Amino acid sequence: MSASYDAIVIGAGHNGLICGSYLARAGLKVLIVERSDRVGGACVTEELFPGFRISTASYSLSLLVPEVVTELGLKLDVRVKDPELFAPFDEGGGLTLWRDPARRRDAIAGVSKKDADAYERWDALWQEAARVFQPLLAFAATRKQARRAFRASEVDKLFNKTVTGSIAELCEEYFESDLMRGLMASQGIIGSAAGPRTPGTAYIYLHHAFGQAAGETGQWGFVRGGMGAITSQLADIFRAAGGEILLDSEVAKVKPAAKRRAAGVVLASGAEIDAPVVCCNADPKRALKLLHPFELPREFVEDVELLPTQGTVVKVNCALSGLPRFRGVEGDGAAPGPEHLGTITIAPSIDYLEEAAQAAGRGEPAPQMFCEAWIQSASEPELAPEGKHTLSVFAQYAPYELAQGSWDERREEIGDLVLAALERHAPGLTDLVEARMVLGPSDLEARFGLTGGNIFHGELLPDWLFEKRPANVWHRYRSPVPGFYLCGSGTHPGGGVCGAPGRNAARAVFADLTADSGITMPTLDEARA
Ligand SMILES: Cc1cc2nc3c(=O)[nH]c(=O)nc-3n(C[C@H](O)[C@H](O)[C@H](O)COP(=O)(O)OP(=O)(O)OC[C@H]3O[C@@H](n4cnc5c(N)ncnc54)[C@H](O)[C@@H]3O)c2cc1C
Repeated sequence: MSASYDAIVIGAGHNGLICGSYLARAGLKVLIVERSDRVGGACVTEELFPGFRISTASYSLSLLVPEVVTELGLKLDVRVKDPELFAPFDEGGGLTLWRDPARRRDAIAGVSKKDADAYERWDALWQEAARVFQPLLAFAATRKQARRAFRASEVDKLFNKTVTGSIAELCEEYFESDLMRGLMASQGIIGSAAGPRTPGTAYIYLHHAFGQAAGETGQWGFVRGGMGAITSQLADIFRAAGGEILLDSEVAKVKPAAKRRAAGVVLASGAEIDAPVVCCNADPKRALKLLHPFELPREFVEDVELLPTQGTVVKVNCALSGLPRFRGVEGDGAAPGPEHLGTITIAPSIDYLEEAAQAAGRGEPAPQMFCEAWIQSASEPELAPEGKHTLSVFAQYAPYELAQGSWDERREEIGDLVLAALERHAPGLTDLVEARMVLGPSDLEARFGLTGGNIFHGELLPDWLFEKRPANVWHRYRSPVPGFYLCGSGTHPGGGVCGAPGRNAARAVFADLTADSGITMPTLDEARA
């Protein structure tokens, strides 16, 4: 390893790897410095229990922007979720949402005929909103630009409905059954501390509806080998372009140079590495801490400090001795049925979700958790020992700060609450658990470096989007310190395995390098050629 580079990227999350890959492909000498012992950030597959390989944090793909896939030449094997989800009923059986429109329609009609009709209009609304939003992912779009784009759309009041409104209000406008309302509303609260009745949660739904990585817009899929298949490939692409990765190396601060520019990084070990460009994949609050040698504008500091990062997600990863059986669902228990192949979703009504959010607001884990569970080994048996299965449960709400007790004291009790929400419909599920790992917000913070355990590096609500992400005016991947850039999920368009922050930040670096030095940097197309 040399002590001097053209650019350093702090953090080897997917956005850091993407940013680094573009810079390296353009001919820069790039080093990625990562605090943990692995690449991928929150996008990894790990052998959590002997013989069981699980996507420890993120587990499903949709948002990765097509430009990143084609420009970097990613070859991903993404299996579209089909069925999309299985939502068990209290009385046994459940609603299976198939991809095929006719089968899906019949299934929803079993719950409510009116909702079966409404679903088509609902889907059309989000397809239209996603179509309008997609071009805004490729640059640091402002709210005004977004409004203008939406105004050109034919759907009446689309911006207010799908960006600033509450997801509950919208679900109540379209659907009559508690179940369809709850299921659809659940996609508007993912990763948030807000409940479905909070204004702006409609945007969280839109954020989960604009992706194209699993095929058609809005579809989600599972990546063969787990989410780590994406980031291990990105690391290979980066290294093939000449990039170097330094693991187990925490950056303690950004090094200042004359004219208050960034001049490199100082590691926790005290080692110094020089570079005129430093891109930070860590979340904005961590980034701020690394900038302590610099005098920063008060407004910038205040805005970043105000970015809400209180996480509410708890991830429970399990090794199962067999497949869970759902009450009232036929099957022999050995071969996977449709209920095992998509997401198993527990979100029976809007009130259920709202009450769970309110419990977390009081500092309590929700007694009744919203859950999305997935058994990847049902479609990829090689991820678990023969006859056994993986179970990955994404649950809300469990607050970062508990009103009573600590996470160390209550972690397993909270893990029990998560599994109880599934056990209610799949009696005996907990007896199948051979080993488990419960990751609450404080664990996500410790393991992945996510401040507050917030899975998106900060709330995805309209007050912290567009030119306010991560701080008013400082939304264009730049910071008040020349040469220091932000390339993670705390920048536009936000979190999820999306890649747009990493790609857009690299473009900002190119633009500045070209302007600063008079050197003509190769365009991305030239670099690709
Ligand atoms: C439990 C969970 C489930 C999720 N589910 C999904 C899902 O199914 N689908 C989806 O699309 N998204 C999901 N997400 C969100 C998604 O995973 C994240 O938003 C995304 O991976 C963040 O990527 P990033 O590259 O911006 O940052 P990160 O992945 O957070 O990477 C930042 C990197 O910087 C490193 N770092 C931090 N500080 C320093 C320092 N000082 N020195 C050196 N290195 C440092 C960190 O160790 C980390 O590797 C989930 C997240 C979690 C936690």
